[in-house]
Amino acid sequence: MMVDWYIGRLGGPYTQLPSYQATNLLPTEATMSWSLKLLTVRGIPVRVHASFLLVVLWAAYIGFTERGALTGAAGVGWLHGAAFMVIFVLLLFACVVLHELGHSLVAQLFGVQVQDITLWPIGGMARMSKLPERPYQEFLISAAGPAVNVTLALALGALALAWIGPNALLRTLLTPRLLTRAMAVMDGQSLLLLLTFNNASLVLFNLIPAFPMDGGRLLRSFLAVFMPFAQATRVASMLGQSLAVVMIVAGLVSPGAYLLVLIGLFVFLSAWQERQQTLTYASLTGVRVRQATQPIGPQLYALETAGEAIRRVGIGPQVAYLVTDGGRLVGMLSRHELLGAVRKGGPGARISQYMRRDVVQFSPDDLLTLAAERLAQRQASVGVVVENGQVIGAVSRLDIARLAEVLEAFPAAATRE
Ligand SMILES: [Zn+2]
Repeated sequence: MMVDWYIGRLGGPYTQLPSYQATNLLPTEATMSWSLKLLTVRGIPVRVHASFLLVVLWAAYIGFTERGALTGAAGVGWLHGAAFMVIFVLLLFACVVLHELGHSLVAQLFGVQVQDITLWPIGGMARMSKLPERPYQEFLISAAGPAVNVTLALALGALALAWIGPNALLRTLLTPRLLTRAMAVMDGQSLLLLLTFNNASLVLFNLIPAFPMDGGRLLRSFLAVFMPFAQATRVASMLGQSLAVVMIVAGLVSPGAYLLVLIGLFVFLSAWQERQQTLTYASLTGVRVRQATQPIGPQLYALETAGEAIRRVGIGPQVAYLVTDGGRLVGMLSRHELLGAVRKGGPGARISQYMRRDVVQFSPDDLLTLAAERLAQRQASVGVVVENGQVIGAVSRLDIARLAEVLEAFPAAATRE
């Protein structure tokens, strides 16, 4: 079984909000950096995470140990067994990449920016800058992934039919002993059959109506036609969690089904997280940047060192510092980046070397949800708010998350238009 998930980051203030951190399943930038770029498709980098190597080793090990058990005296060499399983796993993950590309290319059609696709040991993940706006768009984006595997299963099945022949194929499929044998010889035909079955099971597994599976999103988009988005999310996520509980219980009572317990837990937490994110997003609808804008405190000078700057301004609760040079705004440094500069370059590190020059700018009348998306796209934690050519403050992902927390509890606190 393989999990596949794609994430609408919703601007992603959530990774920074302490109360959500414990259950945050989204990989952080730090864990993402352990990945290798394989190729780029329509501007989308396709990466493979370092931990994926474990899957390849595991496949080789299974191929090595299972070949004797499966074939008995038929005799497949250990190298043959290991190579077969490795080739199988690599091809299967190629199918997963195609599945993610299915989601991603349709998302691009609807103007959703796709940040990257990453292969993990448990499956593939596509990160998107936001959720689609209309239910039918979410429906089509979600359906595109499994549709790729339906196509692959049909194409591979047709190939198997042509290669093995209709009669022989039917007899093999209907006779367990022949099927076991067909798999055990580990040749091209076994590979073809295995890939066909696995593409079919990818379709079935992904259609389970639970977040983060595609089925959960399909269900939500279907419900969203009849009810508000937030309520549709609540219903779909409750159903997902109920299914997850069934998986966990089933996994606990049947011996050796620990994988089911793990997947159940993953589904349970993802459903919860999806609900949190959507409700947060919904609470921010119609709210303007002005409401989350925080005053900017002391400024830093481009030519001073990090040590001087910290001694001069202290490290307070301020999330970001504007950097000026001769009274002109030249860049910006978040608190986190200022501390990072000291850690990397020592107290003598120049502010100008560590500051971010492409400062994200907002107007106070911009929608906050769009501002959150832009921060996520630019991978910035904070942007400046400019009115009539004057910087009037800053807005950070943390500020947005804090405001969302307030609005979830007390919606009337917002001025909406
Ligand atoms: Zn999918």
